Amino acid sequence: MKKVLVLEDEENIRSFVVINLRRAGYDTVEAATGEEALTQLKNNPGIGVALLDLMLPDIDGFEVCRRIRSTNNKIGIIMLTARTQEMDKVTGLMSGADDYVTKPFSPAELTARVDALFRRTGSEPALEPGELFRHPFLLNTRNRTLEKNGQRVKLTQVEYGLVKLFMENPGKAMSREEILDAVWGKDYFGELKIVDVNIRRLRIKIEDDAQNPVFITTVWGYGYKWGA
Ligand code: CA
Repeated sequence: MKKVLVLEDEENIRSFVVINLRRAGYDTVEAATGEEALTQLKNNPGIGVALLDLMLPDIDGFEVCRRIRSTNNKIGIIMLTARTQEMDKVTGLMSGADDYVTKPFSPAELTARVDALFRRTGSEPALEPGELFRHPFLLNTRNRTLEKNGQRVKLTQVEYGLVKLFMENPGKAMSREEILDAVWGKDYFGELKIVDVNIRRLRIKIEDDAQNPVFITTVWGYGYKWGA
């Protein structure tokens, strides 16, 4: 059965969510604090989607999201935000959330979002040799193509080289020099700036919001890395 983590400190909201998810056929795991949620995730590797409330008694939902994403790119994450927290969407995107549900929400709305996210994250394709999947991207090193959520992203050869380098080294901070050597070759005598220019263009193609990148992130004063 598909398993959903429900992190919400307000018990009445939590049980409302849990009851409705169970009715919709989901298995649920509950947490009332951020720490509890992180422990539950460790103990339940089968959780496919996590619903994270923002305002919690210990660490806030964004931080929980960041900590989950630092080790797990596959799980789907939906933030539960209040109407007044609309501006927090940007912060949520930066911390790695996939979707938002604004309180108060109807059971139908919530389960529709969870269903949709399961369809997206659960549709991890059976990989062929030469394919690399990092949700929502599928890289094919045989025909040098990239898909995002099943849609082809048109890349130049340099952009392809960059994406491949990052997807093969998730979470690893890479300096501009390192990136230049790997993608342009050690005998390339150009300026480091070419790395920034190409990453800026690549972000426009692959990020949901190029101003707030979550896939290729900046390591200030150093370079770039894949993921938050
Ligand atoms: Ca709360």
